[in-house]
Amino acid sequence: MNRKMDKDLLTHLINEVNSMATEEIKIMEVCGTHTQMIAKLGLRTLLSPKIKLLSGPGCPVCVTEEKYIDCVIEILNKYNVTVATFGDLMRVRGGKESLLEEKGKGKDVRIIYSPLDLIEMAEKNRGKQIVFLGVGFETTAPIIALAIKTASEKGIDNLYFLTSIKLMAPILHYILKEKNHQIHGFICPGHVATIKGSGYFKFINKEYHIPAAVCGFEAIDIVAGIYYLVKQITQEEEESFKNLYERCVSPQGNRTANLLIDEVFNIADGEWRGIGNIENSSLQMNEKYARFDARKAFVVENQQVKVSMGCDCKDILLGKKTPRECKLFKDRCNPMDPLGPCMVSTEGACAIAYRYGEEI
Ligand code: SF4
Repeated sequence: MNRKMDKDLLTHLINEVNSMATEEIKIMEVCGTHTQMIAKLGLRTLLSPKIKLLSGPGCPVCVTEEKYIDCVIEILNKYNVTVATFGDLMRVRGGKESLLEEKGKGKDVRIIYSPLDLIEMAEKNRGKQIVFLGVGFETTAPIIALAIKTASEKGIDNLYFLTSIKLMAPILHYILKEKNHQIHGFICPGHVATIKGSGYFKFINKEYHIPAAVCGFEAIDIVAGIYYLVKQITQEEEESFKNLYERCVSPQGNRTANLLIDEVFNIADGEWRGIGNIENSSLQMNEKYARFDARKAFVVENQQVKVSMGCDCKDILLGKKTPRECKLFKDRCNPMDPLGPCMVSTEGACAIAYRYGEEI
């Protein structure tokens, strides 16, 4: 499709959406990459004010619990270890401090770009214990699993993984089970569906009778998703689930990735930042790979959760508030001095709202 056709189609779909929306319609885009793209495109300014796009719980850093950061800091302070992490996690505060502050105090915290770099790091630094912070969703789970499996096959004994890998389906059940939720439709993350298959999000429609669409990340993917959802919502269609990202998402998902996940992890209860424990919502290393589990290798005592005062990230992750409804937004909390994780990550709703100056 050429650029002119793309633009004409986008304009046509947006006009159609706006003419269908005679009452308020709330659509949640579950993942942070969609939130980012929606803001970048200025979509909210093109859509009728009756269409409210809410960001959801799909930013991995934003849902990482305070206790997890506190646990890393305790390991850093008690043991002579190197902590390796993705950059986004550096500035997220635990109960009090962040990894960036620990690095400033001289602790060995390094940013890596792929879990597979860890293997080389561990092999070159045999005398050093390395702890990798593996956070993310179904999308990052396979590459973390591959790193763990590779470490096992190579007999690496100085590498540990402190994981906080969350699952999308249980948090959506949590949102949808709330009696007064006001979400009329869901834009489901195409990358999670690429791994898990197109049927992974079908339950939204099947069990809760709310339309949902698996969408890609181009402008046309997102606008087509909104068009589809608004059409289903306004026409009150019974069966309304669609995979609109067929060029990447197959019905069965990525078999190799899922075999890796099953090989290394078990499903377990998970702790979500500000939300608490959700049953069967995380992946944890199974017995076969337990020797790589940092929670088993290092003794950590501080299990007390200290919640950051006044941060509304919980409500933002659940689609109950927008960033500007947090009284700390901009003046007290901004990307230079973030109080909550939603202001840290490039996929965090608050950081996106600050960056693009948009009401999200
Ligand atoms: Fe938390 Fe800051 Fe967002 Fe408020 S603006 S919800 S304090 S991250």
